[in-house]
Order: sequence, then C-alpha cells, then structure tokens
Amino acid sequence: MHSLTIRKVARISPGLVFSLFLLLGFGCYQVPVTGRSALNTVSDEAVNKMSRQAFEELKKSHPVSHNRTLNARVQQVGERLAKVAFWDVPDADWEFVVFEVPNQINAFAMGGGKVGVFTGLFKIIQNDDQLAAVLGHEIAHVAAKHVNEKLSDDMMVQGGGLLVGGILSTTGAAALTANTVLQAYGLSTGLSSVSFDRKKEKEADHIGVMYMARAGYNPEEAVRVIENLESATAGLAGPPAFLSTHPSHPERILQLMDLMPKAMEAYEHSRSKPATISAR
Ligand SMILES: [Zn+2]
Repeated sequence: MHSLTIRKVARISPGLVFSLFLLLGFGCYQVPVTGRSALNTVSDEAVNKMSRQAFEELKKSHPVSHNRTLNARVQQVGERLAKVAFWDVPDADWEFVVFEVPNQINAFAMGGGKVGVFTGLFKIIQNDDQLAAVLGHEIAHVAAKHVNEKLSDDMMVQGGGLLVGGILSTTGAAALTANTVLQAYGLSTGLSSVSFDRKKEKEADHIGVMYMARAGYNPEEAVRVIENLESATAGLAGPPAFLSTHPSHPERILQLMDLMPKAMEAYEHSRSKPATISAR
C-alpha cells in the first residue's frame, strides 16, 4: 500500500512534500484489530474538535429522543463497547444520543466518540446483541480513523494544498472546517447518507464483531442484523445508508462467518471474566 501511495503522490508535484512526510514515518496509522497500515496525515485533534462541533450542531438541528427505554439501552450497550475499545480510542469522550428520526434505519459515530442512533434503527433491532453489532460497527469506524483516512486521501488528490493551509499541524483546525468534516462523514446534506467505501465498511464489520464479542455480546447476532435489514428493505427503492449495498449483504455475511470462530472465542472468554477495561 505504501508504494502505491507514494507513486500516487509523486505524480503531483506539491505532493512530494507528502512522500517525504511518509518516508519520514509520519502520516501512517495502524488500524486496531486488523493491523492494516492506513494513511493519516490530518491532525486527530483537529478532526475530533470539528467532529464534536458538528455533533453539537446535529443535536440542535435534529430532534433528540426522550424515550427513556431506548436511551437507557443505547447508553448501556454503548458504554460496554466503549470500555473494550478504550485503548484503541483513548482520546474519545463517548456520548450516545438517540435521534427521533423514525424513517432512518441508521446510526453513526464521529471522531472524539460522538455516536448518534436513529429511532428507525429499532425497526430491525430485536435485542441488545443486535444493537451492539450496529454500535460496534460504528465505533469501529472511529477506532480505525476512517474519516481521517478519507480526509487524508482527499488531501492527496488536492496535491498537498491543504498542507500549506496548515491542516497537518495540531492547530490545523483553521484549515479543517466543520463542513469539511461533515462532508467526509457524508453528513453534510442531513442525516441520511453516512457511509464509507466498501473496504472501510468491511473493516468496520471486522473490528465491530470483535468489539461486540469482547464486550460479551453474541457475535452471531451481527449476521442477523444484516438479514433483518435485508428483509426490512426488500422492495424499497433505495437502501438505507447503514449497511448499504456496498458491500453487498452476502459479501458482508460471508466475511462475518469467516470471522465467527475467532469472535465466538472472544465472546466465550469475555463471559468467563468480569467486565473490565481490556488491554489489547
Ligand atoms: Zn459503516
């Protein structure tokens, strides 16, 4: 992946700064659980700051649910997952908010640990294990820093223009606006289109199923969520953003089945010991 990245950079002359940057060993991030080496040339601090701001805006512009039962379930499941992801996302200040959006079967998580769940999700969620599968997947996007990677890729395309703009510095918040961040999450046009590319979605499934298992939720329920979603959306014109058609449902189920022995082992292990902040 490195050679490909550097070749891509070398085509754009301002991007040479980047290749130097990468050769010096900066700008790479090892994704937890999968161990993949990912590009991260943006400031985590700036992304988290902008994500927190964007989340505050979303809370103002969209109705927050006061349903006590749903809020309590989301808090409890979310906190258990946050505990197992602790060492992967040590800078997160987790917050779980239920949005009253009944027509959206969806959820999302942003840098800094800001998680939104839409009430429409509960149409396909039959138990807390399934809720953990969805939240585990979303928390995995944050742990894998998928939005940072997306922003870093965008910067590559722009040939380092943002480097000059100061995006790489820890005070790069000036170049990285809340809107840039919202766009990267796919949230700039409302709450309906949170999704990453196929590779990142599959990686979030992989990390998510391990998180839910380590938190003591039955990983087999992750498969059921996709099945539920498939039947809930059969016949609908457009698929919901969460678990969208890329990758396809069978492709995701196959990957989960491949990971299941490992996930079941983690699940059994987590049930045999009291919940603690787990080391990796
Ligand atoms: Zn996703």
